[in-house]
Amino acid sequence: MLHLVKLLSTYSFMGLIRYLRLQIMGKELLVTGACHCCGNCCRKINLEGTHGWLRSPMDFQEVVLLYPEYERFRITGKDQQGYLQFACSWLGDNGLCWNHEKRLSLCKNFPDKTLHFCGGSVPPGCGYRISEVRPFSSYLADEVKGQQKNETNPHS
Ligand code: SF4
Ligand code: SF4
Repeated sequence: MLHLVKLLSTYSFMGLIRYLRLQIMGKELLVTGACHCCGNCCRKINLEGTHGWLRSPMDFQEVVLLYPEYERFRITGKDQQGYLQFACSWLGDNGLCWNHEKRLSLCKNFPDKTLHFCGGSVPPGCGYRISEVRPFSSYLADEVKGQQKNETNPHS
């Protein structure tokens, strides 16, 4: 039960369903693609605080107190799951970050797989994709099993 409460504080409800589906299906997440600098990920951002994804302006204020560099974000509304959405004031009219060298690690790591467990997805038009895939090791294990079966029963 405690484990479930911890999971729910880490993931959104939708994210938890995705997490459990991955566990049951034995799959993992794979990020593919490339950035083509559309800037959409700087216009619709979910932020994570010390107690999970931010839901209220008060949560955000706490984060800014701890990490003043987050002041660059402005609340624009909420997503379908009730999480705050932000836009970044560092995004220029040309769709590019005006101080790319000093962007945050969350910008450098986008799209982080945790986005999937917040119930979110990459923004429309993004060149990246997060997919649920069967791990290579599981294909390999099937292959080895098949070969072992053939060796023990060559005429089957
Ligand atoms: S700091 Fe730059 S890269 Fe990061 S969200 Fe803002 S505009 Fe985008
Ligand atoms: S939304 Fe995707 S393609 Fe557009 S700037 Fe962000 S990472 Fe790059």
